[in-house]
Amino acid sequence: MPETFDTLTTRLAEIQDLRKTGAILFWDQQTKMPGAGAAGRAEQLATLHRMAHELFVSEETGRLLEGLRSYEDSLDPASDEASLIRVTRQDYEKAARVPAELESELTRAASHGVQDWVTARETSDFARFLPALERNVELKLRYVECFEPQGERYDVLLDDYERGMTAAEVRTIFDRLKEELVPLIAEIAERDDPSLEEVTRGTFPVERQRELCHDVIRRFGMRPDSWRLDPTEHPFASGAGVDDIRLTTHYHDDTLEALFATMHEYGHGLYEHGVDPALDRTPLGSGVSLGLHESQSRMWENLVGRSRPFWRYLYPTLRETFPEQLGSVELERFLRAINRVHPSLIRIHADEVTYNMHVILRFELEQEIVNGRVELKDLPAEWNRRMHEYLGIEVPDDAHGVLQDVHWAGGGIGYFPTYSLGNVISVQIWERVREDLPGLEEGFERGEFAPLREWLGEHLHRYGRKFSPKETIIKVAGGPIDPEPYLRYLRAKHGADGSL
Ligand code: ZN
Repeated sequence: MPETFDTLTTRLAEIQDLRKTGAILFWDQQTKMPGAGAAGRAEQLATLHRMAHELFVSEETGRLLEGLRSYEDSLDPASDEASLIRVTRQDYEKAARVPAELESELTRAASHGVQDWVTARETSDFARFLPALERNVELKLRYVECFEPQGERYDVLLDDYERGMTAAEVRTIFDRLKEELVPLIAEIAERDDPSLEEVTRGTFPVERQRELCHDVIRRFGMRPDSWRLDPTEHPFASGAGVDDIRLTTHYHDDTLEALFATMHEYGHGLYEHGVDPALDRTPLGSGVSLGLHESQSRMWENLVGRSRPFWRYLYPTLRETFPEQLGSVELERFLRAINRVHPSLIRIHADEVTYNMHVILRFELEQEIVNGRVELKDLPAEWNRRMHEYLGIEVPDDAHGVLQDVHWAGGGIGYFPTYSLGNVISVQIWERVREDLPGLEEGFERGEFAPLREWLGEHLHRYGRKFSPKETIIKVAGGPIDPEPYLRYLRAKHGADGSL
């Protein structure tokens, strides 16, 4: 092994240390930090981000990578070493195209954007957010130009979250989803039972929820020596490496949302925890793309966490935990309540069917923004028109419409599609797991989750970022991304003769 390789890995390990330190500072900001610490924390995070970025894009990194070309050619492309050089080179070539001045402008505009968005959303005043959004979009278009795109501009933005995927590929998948889901949602609406609302909305004391959430992820296989679960405003999963996994959730005293959010974040945490420890402190030591990451969270939240076998196992415990609320509710009614499909305004509260329409709407608008086909001031009207067309609902104000999500405020254009790609991929993987493990769901009824956990570790998690997202999907799901398994699943569950 050449000395250059050791020098590169040492450098990358230090960069990774800085990034993980930033992740822990962010986690602390969102869970523990007293509010007045915000200004100082913003500086600390910016400094760490800048140090990691400068170290990474420095000429020294480029020189080391250049010096490793013949060594790379001598390696098995599937080896850890070859993957490390290959992926680092891709990361480097992307990062090096963006001038430092633009990079810091983007970071600053994103943090101002989020501040303005918070006030704008509180007062439901889109005009107040518009200048920050205009600034973000202008900078994003400058960012796109750094890559001299041959295809669509949007491809450059999507690539930051789902490397190698194009807008055209996403459109093909989403057009298919839309074609099936719009009529399915309308059909389900005719059979809707609004009284189900009262099953999952009522009195769920937070302290008991907290214990339950910890209990459920312990049953899933969370190891207390390397995981934590803490309350926060907006749930996320983070951490400092395979043995330091931080999950967060948000407890509402009138719903069970925290439990489903916890199972969701558990899926993200398990992916990070399952990466081969040999890849820790390298750029390969995390999940490969947001779409694949979301496939893992949606799997534990929906395919496990809303399934009949799982609730045959857990429902007695849940009933004992909340006897006032659920003592007289039969399992079947509870299952229908937690799987109720009902068009609603807010993406993060949406059910597993209508959720995709929220995402498709954003994906369509993002392409129009990037291609200059919509004026930003007209976004609220466009948003509301599509909400009516896709979900049949009226948007009462911008806080419940175009201002509900933080992504565009923070410069995250191209992120949204990965949520629905995650849904699609989750069922592709699920079909493979069920073929390989015929007794999987009967096992859930006995509280056996290790077979699923181990299968995912073996076929997906351990690879980290060693292979491209497309290669990884083929390895774990047996073929390229395909919406049909997901559509089959939704029809089998929610269609007219569905299993619910
Ligand atoms: Zn997620």
